[in-house]
Amino acid sequence: MNVHDSDRIRRMIQDAGYAEVQRYEDADLVILNTCYVRENAVDRVKGHLGELNRLRREGRVKRVALTGCIGAAEESAALRQTYDIDLVLGTHNTYELAEFVGLPTMRETYTPDLPGTEGGHNAFVTIMTGCNYQCSYCIVPTVRGRMICRPMESVIGEVERLVAGGTGYVTLLGQTVDAWRHEGKRFCDLLEAVSESAPRVWFTTSHPSNMEDRTLRAIGERETIVKRLHLPVQSGSDRILKVMHRGYKAERYRRKIEVFREAAPEGTLSTDIIVGHPGETEEDHEQTLRLVEDCAFDSAYIFKFSPRRGTEAAGLPGTVPDAVVQRRFLEVLRQVEQNAFTRNQRKVGGMEEIYIRHGSTEDGKAIGETWSGHAVHVNTDAEPGDYVKARIESAGPHVLYAGEPDTSL
Ligand code: SAM
Ligand code: SF4
Repeated sequence: MNVHDSDRIRRMIQDAGYAEVQRYEDADLVILNTCYVRENAVDRVKGHLGELNRLRREGRVKRVALTGCIGAAEESAALRQTYDIDLVLGTHNTYELAEFVGLPTMRETYTPDLPGTEGGHNAFVTIMTGCNYQCSYCIVPTVRGRMICRPMESVIGEVERLVAGGTGYVTLLGQTVDAWRHEGKRFCDLLEAVSESAPRVWFTTSHPSNMEDRTLRAIGERETIVKRLHLPVQSGSDRILKVMHRGYKAERYRRKIEVFREAAPEGTLSTDIIVGHPGETEEDHEQTLRLVEDCAFDSAYIFKFSPRRGTEAAGLPGTVPDAVVQRRFLEVLRQVEQNAFTRNQRKVGGMEEIYIRHGSTEDGKAIGETWSGHAVHVNTDAEPGDYVKARIESAGPHVLYAGEPDTSL
């Protein structure tokens, strides 16, 4: 979501006649588009603001704007007192940036109903903004507001324009995409319609409480949908899931995974897990490890709990000591990597059609994605957006390695 927002900001700045530069010292204007989900994101922004203030004193940077989720949080007032910032914007008033850079204000252009990055081989399309859940630990509903679903015609219209402009891969975006509803239509209807217009489709993020079996089956059945599911579970303990207000039990999650594995046996499954939520006991942690083993995730984002001011969890008793959090983090990571390694080994020897996401670097390796959603390193000078066919020669826990592409196919 932030990458997508940054793309839109970049486009706006370019419309105003600015060119993008790689180093702060070459910039007249610096816009920090920020994340507020965990404290380490804030620490990094403070580091950047410190450096920018120094450059500013030397006259090398003229103006600084802070946008995104930190801008929408109360903490931005404190940052403004400590650092020299010209403009602070939240997530809903990015259009004000237009005025700041000398463009007419275009409120309608920078609302959820806006065009995405056009022309790129790979484009994000926002289908909803905000979130109606209140997970104990999460700041997103505070900084992004309640859910607003974008009308189906608007999404389809954008997808069609993108595809006509050369986009080969569309990712539908939202905090809980499966909660999308509009005039009697549900997410699966939207996904199916998009999968008819776009040559390659993926979506993120799903919420287990909204995820319908119908959607899981569509992933398996529809040729243009990448068989990759990101379904955050957060914990394997029913007790902690309840404290988190996630709205499902571990058993329901397991059942969803069974449906997915049946619908797309070759597909990939990833998740988000938080370790060290207040009150998490050794027994809760064991249950998370058990769930990780049962679901055999292909990858997982594992986060150490980070208290966010204003969320319920920040005020809960039962803080888990850092050393315990670190141990649990490593245990979950090890379990995920073991499973992923075993599953990836099964791909070795197979021929795969690979979509090139990033062109080759100095070592001649491009990064691509199979239809099953596996990341692959492949020796090719094919351009992003191209497809190549190659045999998988080896595999690690995070990525597959393909041989030379077969050009006879
Ligand atoms: N809407 C998505 C969902 O519910 O699955 C995810 C949104 S959040 C931006 C991405 C991930 O960050 C979450 O799934 C959660 O694992 C993690 N996260 C959010 N708040 C956190 C916190 N306070 N501490 C640690 N991890 C957190
Ligand atoms: Fe945050 Fe929960 Fe909403 Fe995801 S569903 S954005 S974790 S409140």
